[in-house]
This record gives sequence, C-alpha cells and structure tokens, in this order.
Amino acid sequence: MSLEIRKIGVIGAGQMGKGIAQVCALAGLDVALNDVSAERISAGIDDIAAHLQRAVDRGQLDAAGRDAAVARLSAAPALPDFRDADMVIEAASESEEVKRKILSDIALVLKPDAIIGTNTSSISITRLAAVSGRPERFIGIHFMNPVPKMALVELIRGIATDDRTFEETREFITKLGKTITVSEDFPAFIVNRILLPMINEAVYTLYEGVGSVEAIDTAMKLGANHPMGPLQLADFIGLDVCLSVMQVLHEGLADSKYRPCPLLVKYVEAGWLGRKTQRGFYDYRGGSPVPTR
Ligand code: NAD
Repeated sequence: MSLEIRKIGVIGAGQMGKGIAQVCALAGLDVALNDVSAERISAGIDDIAAHLQRAVDRGQLDAAGRDAAVARLSAAPALPDFRDADMVIEAASESEEVKRKILSDIALVLKPDAIIGTNTSSISITRLAAVSGRPERFIGIHFMNPVPKMALVELIRGIATDDRTFEETREFITKLGKTITVSEDFPAFIVNRILLPMINEAVYTLYEGVGSVEAIDTAMKLGANHPMGPLQLADFIGLDVCLSVMQVLHEGLADSKYRPCPLLVKYVEAGWLGRKTQRGFYDYRGGSPVPTR
C-alpha cells in the first residue's frame, strides 16, 4: 500500500532546511523542524515567516495562505519529536560524520514505514543509507538553492532503495510543484558534478591572477549568459559547501582535475563563507557587495 505523506520532519534549519520546510508547508503538509538548539529552530521559523510575508508584500501569496503555512510549522527540538512523521528530510551541515550520527539516531525513533531522505550535495546515498537501519526506505532528495525558487529536484537511489520508496518520493516532489531529474549515486550527482568544477575553476582563475572577482563574474555573466557570476554564485551556495563538494569529487573520483583551489580553502579557513557570514568573494556588510580581491 502506498504511504500518504502528510507530515514531514526537516533536520537542519539552515538555508536549505528552511526552504524545504517552507515549500512543504505551502503545499499543505505539516512540518516539524529540528536543529542543534531551540534558538536556531525558532530563528528558522521566524525567517520562513518573514520570507512568506515578503511573498504577500509582492502579491504572490495572500495573508490566509501565509497564516496557514506558518501554522503548519512546528519546532522539533529532539529527534523523538519525529515519531509521527511520514518522511524525514535530513538537511544538516555537509559533513559525513554529522549526517551519520543523525541518521543512526533517527532510525531508532521513526515509524517503521517512514521514508528517510537526505539533501546531501555530494555524499554517497548508499553509504548514508547503510547507517539508517532502513536502506530500502532511504533516498537522496537533492533540492536546489533557493528551494522556493528553483524548479529542479534530483532524486538519487541508493543501491538498496526500493521502487515503492522511489515512487512515493516522486509523488511527494510532484506535489511540491517541482520537476525531477534522476541521477545515479556517483559523487555530487549531476548538477554539482558539472557546476562545482566550474566554480572551482573560477577560483583558480582568481588565484592565478587571470582576472579580478569583478572581471571573472562579468565575463561569465555577459560572455556565457549566466544569470550570476561563478564567484557570486559560490558566495550564495556557501564556500564551505563548495569546498566540501570539491573534496568529495576529488576523493571519490580520484582525479586531480577536481583538486580544490587553495584560495577556496583559505577563504573557508578564514571563516569567510559567503553571504551567510557576510563575507566571501564579496563583502556584504555595507549597502552593496564589494569584491574582496
Ligand atoms: P547551513 O550551514 O545553512 O545549515 C545547516 C544547518 O544544520 C545549520 O543550521 C546547523 O546548525 C544544522 N545542524 C548541524 N548539525 C546538526 C545536527 N546534528 N542536528 C540538527 N541540525 C544540525 O547549510 P545548508 O546550505 O542549508 O546545507 C544543508 C545541506 O543541504 C547540506 O547537506 C548541503 O550539502 C545541502 N545542499 C546545500 C545547497 C546550497 O546551495 N547551500 C544546495 C543543495 C543541497
């Protein structure tokens, strides 16, 4: 029998977790949100409410729709709060250690039939599934950033993911109004396998002095018709996320062409992670972004 997904648990109230929670609540699902502290969860819920308010201000949503979506959001400070969830989507920091701990803990509290999805950008679905205690009900659900705007979701089966899990997840994503593309379980899947080496190459171009931040971004915006320059996009994604995807490609495919640029490593070491820390390839602390090199 097919599982009707009514309640979703989201682990991680960062950029992605908030976006996932928002689109699920707007699609009429109950959403329980978890993070490392009650403060982070309530800040996450406040951010979603503010985001929905901006949609009301722009005339894209009515006040009743906003209120209904906000009312469907709840805080889940402890993993047992997910005991009645039909599906849990893990969107915590891109660290295999962090994810393994969450996934092995959550397996103990979920309903036996609940699906576990991970939003990982690059870590092996099969490897994460192995610690979940239910690899047949485990699947990669890779949303794009920003979730409310981006139409695509990559679906990735682990080696043990069964057809029922795949079909129920496909139905769930369709209900959110997103389009699916299916990727095999190889490092970084499709979008990031292509996108991140381009961003890394842009950082090398900066590192080698071929062009400034502004020159590189202008070149790719006007010369390749990209809506955003690669360094601007890197800041948007988060430089820590970019670095960890390159590390996974480098280690997973053992090819030197994926070597993370030392300058990207340096920015991450400095804690300049892009927009989320107000500084990356641009400095966002003033009125308009200023290149940092
Ligand atoms: P983020 O740093 O904005 O948020 C991560 C959140 O996870 C933080 O709020 C952190 O406190 C929380 N967290 C850390 N450990 C936790 C734990 N043990 N339990 C609960 N919460 C915990 O990161 P993000 O950009 O939202 O990325 C989240 C996931 O989504 C990563 O796997 C990333 O690879 C993936 N992803 C990111 C993007 C992107 O463009 N940023 C796109 C697609 C997928």
